[in-house]
Parts: sequence; C-alpha cells; structure tokens
Amino acid sequence: MEKIDILSLDLNELECKLEALGQKKFRAKQIFQWLHVKKIFDFDEMTNISVQLRATLKENFCVNRLFVAKRLESCMDNTVKYLYELEDGNFVETVLMEYHHGMSLCVSTQVGCKMGCKFCASAIAGYVRSLSASEILMQIYETEKNSSVKISGVVLMGIGEPLDNFDNVVKFFRLVSHKDGYNLSLRHVTVSTCGIVPKIYQLADLKLGVTLSVSLHSADNDSRSRIMPINKTYNIEKLLDACRYYINTTGRRVTFEYAVIDNINSAVNDADTLSDLIRGMNCHVNLIPVNSVKERNYKSDSVQVKKFAAQLEKRGINATVRRTLGSDIEAACGQLRRDAITKNCKNGGVDL
Ligand code: SAH
Repeated sequence: MEKIDILSLDLNELECKLEALGQKKFRAKQIFQWLHVKKIFDFDEMTNISVQLRATLKENFCVNRLFVAKRLESCMDNTVKYLYELEDGNFVETVLMEYHHGMSLCVSTQVGCKMGCKFCASAIAGYVRSLSASEILMQIYETEKNSSVKISGVVLMGIGEPLDNFDNVVKFFRLVSHKDGYNLSLRHVTVSTCGIVPKIYQLADLKLGVTLSVSLHSADNDSRSRIMPINKTYNIEKLLDACRYYINTTGRRVTFEYAVIDNINSAVNDADTLSDLIRGMNCHVNLIPVNSVKERNYKSDSVQVKKFAAQLEKRGINATVRRTLGSDIEAACGQLRRDAITKNCKNGGVDL
C-alpha cells in the first residue's frame, strides 16, 4: 500500500484518515501542529503522541522532504537561492529575499514549464510535472529550517505556471493559511500568471484574497504573441477583462509585470500604448529589467527602463522598477535547474 503524503492533507482530511484507522479525531490537530507549526517531520519526535500511534503513522503516512542540492548566498544583498532536489530526483528553485517589511520567499509550482515564454530560462529546460501542494509548502518549511528565518510573504513566481497547476496551488493556499497550521494571511501571498484566462476567473470566484500578478510584458498583441505563446490562446483584451473581473470580485489591486526588453517593448510609444490599455484600472505596473539568460539575446538598457517608467508616470500610471536582487547568484528563474540538468549534478554537485 502506498503511503499517504501527510503534508498535503488539511486538518479535516487528516481527521478522517485517522478515524478510518480507529484513532481519536483530536489527535489530528496535534499532529497537524507538529507538522505545520513546529515543522517536526519525524513521527518519533512527536512526543505527545503515543509510541503505538507513532508506529501507525509511520506505517500509513510519509513526509516528502526536499534536499538542498545547492545553496547560493548573494554577496550584494541577503538573497539566498536554493536548488532543492525532490524525492523523485527532480529539481526546483526557491529564492529567499529580504525586504524592509520582512523575508519573502519565491516558490516554484512545477518542475519546468509548458508556457514557452521566450525570455525565460524555465522554458529552456522543458516541462516534467506539476508539484504537489506539499512540495510547494515544503519549500517554505525547509527554507525556514535551513536559514533560521521566519517568512512573512510568499510569491508564486519561481519555476512553473501556477494556474496550470490550479488544484494543487489552491490546496497550498488553504494549507498555508490554515489557522491551526502555518497561519499565513493570504494577503501576503502573490500568485503570478502568464495569463491563463479561465483560471483567473476561477481564482477570483474563490475569493481567497491572494494578490494577483500578471506577466503582461507587452501592450500589443503582435509583440506579446512573439514573446509569450499563451497570447495566441488568450489575447490581451481577454486577459484584461479577466483582470477587471478579479479586481471587481476580490477588491484587490492587480500588478502587471513588464520586463522592459530592448527592441521589443521598451520604446516610449510602448509606454503610451500600455497606459491607454490599463488606464482607470486598480493596478500597479512593476517594471523589470530583464535578466539576461545566456541562451537568449534579450537585454534591458537601464536608461530606457527609467525613461519608460517616467513616461508611465507622466501618463498617470502607477509604476515602480523592481529592485534586482541576487543578480550575482543567477536568481533569474529556471537558471539553476537548467544548469543542474546540463551538468547532471544529482546531489553530487553540492555547492554549499
Ligand atoms: N509562470 C508565471 C510565474 C513564473 S515567472 C508567470 O509567467 O508569471 C515569474 C516572473 O518572472 C514572470 O513575470 C516572468 O515573466 C518573469 N521572468 C521570467 N524570465 C525572466 C527574465 N529572464 N527576466 C525578467 N523577468 C523574467
């Protein structure tokens, strides 16, 4: 019999499983707290649980740990990048960043990505599978254990397209915000999407309160389709309708991510097109100097980024330029995993 991944169960599910095993329901809360509050993953260390029940737990449940295959610390800021190896030998990346309001963690949601955005390193190494809810959650728990920090914000902006792994991502939201568990307010969780329109509507209807960030990167369909294949399925008009629905349904402001790329979307008239497109929306534009990916020839000119930001401001659009964190440690998403696969470092390439 295959063991049940205990960290993917919410409290109700754990209660049901324990009852089915002839155990008392209240034990579930104790176990849930060991896992999600104390981050104790060895059943033998759960001291208020009887030895007999611990044996039953070991027989029926498992905890899928993540292993640190690589840990890179930036010398420029306090950014730490982890390459985690999963139980099945796949790799994902997680980035810990320090902001003035606390520590924020950027987590992956899939091993690889199907979306094929041209400027993104995740597309190069190819798609393998989606992560389970517990594999997303464990990136937080393992990083807290490893770095001895308390994470106060989580962004789903690592490898993968979160809305292409919708059910597990929603399960993750429910687990991470559980009041008897990690208890993180979903107001401090941001989900970033390249624009899978039907899933944006679905997420809005759940009214979870998560912040939505949309990777727009271009305000006209021709150039967006050239860099982001998803635009051929859901064009800018459909995407913006979904964003308006999200804003109206949840009352939350949407962020548009815009990587300013030379010769693609960086001209002053591109800033004008963007302003016309989003005027009047409760939104914010986050301008990103593109991270250069060695297989791709995309670049950002910092002067142009500033000009672009100034033009948006002139047109009354709320915009900021994202601070580049950890630029000395290949913090652009997908770069470590791609290198790990190329070098086939499978735990051997430990670089701590
Ligand atoms: N699939 C999701 C989340 C992962 S990517 C999404 O598309 O939003 C997280 C963010 O990093 C996205 O805005 C993505 O477009 C951006 N990004 C990817 N590669 C980048 C690069 N080389 N330079 C700058 N931003 C990049």
